[in-house]
Amino acid sequence: MSPFHGLIDSHCHLQDPKFDGEHQAVVRRSREADVSAHVVVGYDVQSSRRGVQLARSFENIFATVGVHPHDAKALAPSDIDALARVAEDPRVVAIGEIGLDFYRNLSLPDRQRKAFRDQLNLARSLRLPVVIHARHADEEAFEILSAYVHSMKKDWPAGRPIGVMHCFAGDLPLALRYIEIGFLISIAGTVTYPNADMTRAVARGIPLDSMVIETDAPYLTPQSHRGQRNEPAYIAETAQFIAGLRGERFEGIAEATTANADRLFALDRVPQTAGERS
Ligand SMILES: [Zn+2]
Repeated sequence: MSPFHGLIDSHCHLQDPKFDGEHQAVVRRSREADVSAHVVVGYDVQSSRRGVQLARSFENIFATVGVHPHDAKALAPSDIDALARVAEDPRVVAIGEIGLDFYRNLSLPDRQRKAFRDQLNLARSLRLPVVIHARHADEEAFEILSAYVHSMKKDWPAGRPIGVMHCFAGDLPLALRYIEIGFLISIAGTVTYPNADMTRAVARGIPLDSMVIETDAPYLTPQSHRGQRNEPAYIAETAQFIAGLRGERFEGIAEATTANADRLFALDRVPQTAGERS
């Protein structure tokens, strides 16, 4: 039986300096909110290392390793080797967050494309799932990921999701196309925002066995705590909100999204830490 119960925060950044010195308290509050696991997502080499350190210190924290499209401009070839070494740690469960962001364009598009491709190749060689950030790049990201899925076909276990579209911000038809090629769709606290009709349509319309939930903490704080730093305990509000949207019980949303996150990241196969250290 899966050791995970309650909720899983499938995407947060607890290595962010905004949480410095507070990890014990943040994890205690999330435990009180019945969060049984957190996936701490890297956004550059240093944050990936810091995420792995957290994952080695807390039984219920896991890490991903990757360079965000915003930081693609600084990605040197040697960084891919550095990421590969960080990703050797058995507490690492995915490559990400990686992708394309043509909304803010903090890195030149061609740098973003190269960083994305190089890190997809890394995920393929390490046989890890991918955590994707795509913004204002719908068609191109889909094209790249379809080709990627195709290239993986022989090597990827049937039934295991190949990755997750983090904080999905596209429309329902695009979400269904991603599900079709083997991705999960992650719903963040943005679903509670007044102007988020498109995200609500996605949260209502996708099959429950393709959904995971996330906080993206310290960002994207759900509506009732807006203005404060986000943290994993607040994921309960997002799950409750989705339950209301779908006319389902909270427990049903929790059970399905937790099972999906476990299936995606294979959390139940990750070796345990020596235990929580203070
Ligand atoms: Zn993120």
